[in-house]
Amino acid sequence: MQLHWHRRDLRGADNRALAAAAEAVDTDGTDGVVSLFVFDDAILEHAGAPRVAYLLDALADLRAWYRERGGDLLVRHGDPAQVVVDVAESVDADRVVWNKDYSGVARERDAAVRQALADPDIARESYHDAICHEPGSITTNDGDPYSVFTYFGRKWHDRQKDEPYPAPDADSLADSDALGVDAGSVPTLADLGFDEPEADLLTAGTEAARKRLKRFCEDGIYRYESDRDYPTRNSTSRLSADLKYGTIGIREVYWASEDAKVDASDEEREEIEEFQSQLAWRAFYTHVLWFNPGVVSQNYKEYANEIEWENDPELLAAWQDGETGYPIVDAGMRQLRAEGFMHNRVRMIVASFLTKDLLIDWRKGYDWFRAKLVDHDTANDNGGWQWAASTGTDAQPYFRIFNPMTQGERYDPDAEYITKYVPELRGVDPEIIHGWHEASPTQRHNAAPDYPAPIVDHSERREQALAMFEAARGED
Ligand code: FAD
Repeated sequence: MQLHWHRRDLRGADNRALAAAAEAVDTDGTDGVVSLFVFDDAILEHAGAPRVAYLLDALADLRAWYRERGGDLLVRHGDPAQVVVDVAESVDADRVVWNKDYSGVARERDAAVRQALADPDIARESYHDAICHEPGSITTNDGDPYSVFTYFGRKWHDRQKDEPYPAPDADSLADSDALGVDAGSVPTLADLGFDEPEADLLTAGTEAARKRLKRFCEDGIYRYESDRDYPTRNSTSRLSADLKYGTIGIREVYWASEDAKVDASDEEREEIEEFQSQLAWRAFYTHVLWFNPGVVSQNYKEYANEIEWENDPELLAAWQDGETGYPIVDAGMRQLRAEGFMHNRVRMIVASFLTKDLLIDWRKGYDWFRAKLVDHDTANDNGGWQWAASTGTDAQPYFRIFNPMTQGERYDPDAEYITKYVPELRGVDPEIIHGWHEASPTQRHNAAPDYPAPIVDHSERREQALAMFEAARGED
C-alpha cells in the first residue's frame, strides 16, 4: 500500500507525489494508494475562519473525487508525527509520500514525520510540487539566492517547466471498502472551534478552480497587464486560494496560460507574460522564505536602528474596520471582511497606508490579513507586507509613499469599487470622494454624513514616516 499524505495539495490531478504513488502501484504491484489528511492544531491555531471554511469545502470536494473512483480520503486530527505513523501501520503501508511545503513550521513538521516513520522503518519520500522550480534551483551564477526579483524572474521565464502530472487511475486507488479502517469524517467549523465566517467565499475545490482558470484564459489573461491594477475590471485570475490550497496544480495553470498564447497577438502575448510573472513572484517569495525562514517575524532588510513604529491601537482598529476616512483604503478593508479577499492594487494601498500613514508595524497588518484572507500564504503575504513596509527583499524604497487619494483616483476613477464596499458614499460625486481629505466638515456632512473624516493628515504623516525611516537608517 502507498499512503499519500495531502497537505496543501488538495487535488487528484497534477499532483506530483500522488502521481508517484500511483506509478509505484502500477510498477511494483503494491495494493493501491490510500490518501490521508491530518488536522494539525499547531496550524489551526494561526488560521482564521474564512480560511478554515474554504479548507473544509476543498476537503469535502477531494473526498468526493476519491470516492467517485472507488478510493477514499482518510481524515484524522492530531499531531502528524503520531497520526501519519499510526495510519501507515493500520493500512500496512509500504511507503508514505507527500509534497514538500516550504515554511519553517512546515519543514519542522515534515522532519518530525520523517523521523517518526524511520522507527517502524516505513519508506518515505517527499516531492517538490507547489511551485514550478524547487527552492534553491534558481540562484545567481555564484549559487547564491536572489534578493531581487528581476534576474530571478528572467531565469524563471527561461527555464523549461514540467508538464502537469497525470491523475491516478481509479485502478491504482485502494478499494475503500477493503481498507478496514475508519475513514473519519470531515469536521464542521464548530467542531474545530471556529464561528461561521462573515465573509462570502468563492466555491472551493478543483472543479471550481478549473472553471476560474478557463474563464480567465478566455478573457482576462489577454488584457491582464493593462487592466490588472483596476479593481473593477475583473482581469485577474482569482486563483490565489486555489494555489494556496493546491486545489489546482501550478503546472496546469502555467500550461493553460501557455496555451492561451497560441493564437494570441504579440501584444496579447505580453499581457499573458505579465500574468506568468506573477507566478514567478509567487515562486520568488517561496524561495525567499525557504532561504530566510525568520522573515515571518523579522524584517528581511536590516536597518541600523529599530524602526520606531507608533502602533496606536485606535488607528489600527479604524484600519481594520474600514473607518479611516480614506475611501479606497476603507473599501479594501471592507472587501476583505466581506469576501476574505482583496484586490492586489488595493492590498498595496492599504498596506502602505497602515505602515506609512498610520506608522503601524507591518506585522500587525500581516496578522490581520492572516486572520481574514482566504488565500493567506505565508510566503506571499509576508513578501507583500515587507514590500509595502520597505523592510523586505526588493521592497518599495522607504521614501516612496503611496498617496491614497491619488491611488484611488487613478485606479478607481468613477469610485465604482469604493461605492461597492462603502455604501455611505453611494450617490456621492466621485470628485468629492477622491477629494474627501480636502473637503470642509460641512461639505463632508452634506455629502455623506455617516462616513468619517480622515483620521490622519496624509501630508503630515508622510513627513513623520520619512523621519521614522531616516532615524532607523541612522540619518537623524
Ligand atoms: P492574479 O493577478 O491572477 O495572479 C495569479 C497568481 O499569482 C495569484 O493567484 C498568486 O498566486 C500569484 N501572485 C499574484 N501576485 C502576486 C504577488 N505580488 N506576490 C506573490 N504571488 C502573487 N497573495 C497570496 O496568494 N496570498 C497572500 O497571502 C497575499 N498577501 C498579500 C499581501 C500584501 C500586502 C500584498 C501587497 C499582496 C499579497 N498577495 C498575496 C499577492 C496578491 O495580492 C494576490 O496573490 C492576488 O491579489 C490574488 O489575486 P488573483 O489570484 O486574482 O491574482
